[in-house]
Amino acid sequence: MLKNYMEILADQIFDEVKNKYNICQDKNCADDIKSITLNDLAPVYFLSSVSEGEKKAFLLDRQRKITVLAKITEAVDLVCGKCENRKK
Ligand SMILES: [Zn+2]
Repeated sequence: MLKNYMEILADQIFDEVKNKYNICQDKNCADDIKSITLNDLAPVYFLSSVSEGEKKAFLLDRQRKITVLAKITEAVDLVCGKCENRKK
């Protein structure tokens, strides 16, 4: 099955920051945050010739992680900024 490695990376980082940034536990919010994040990032698919090591290196790239984290932070503000107001 084809895997979008940008999505895998975004999922990983989202899981890491979910508790740190006190993101609401709403499933729709989490989906919206990930959708907005991924719409802003080009998908990445590896060819079958690419080694596991190269795939791992992609997921561990510091600069890329910082870029994705910044997008997630923006998306959280956008999605949960609104949803908290709605629930009050
Ligand atoms: Zn929310």
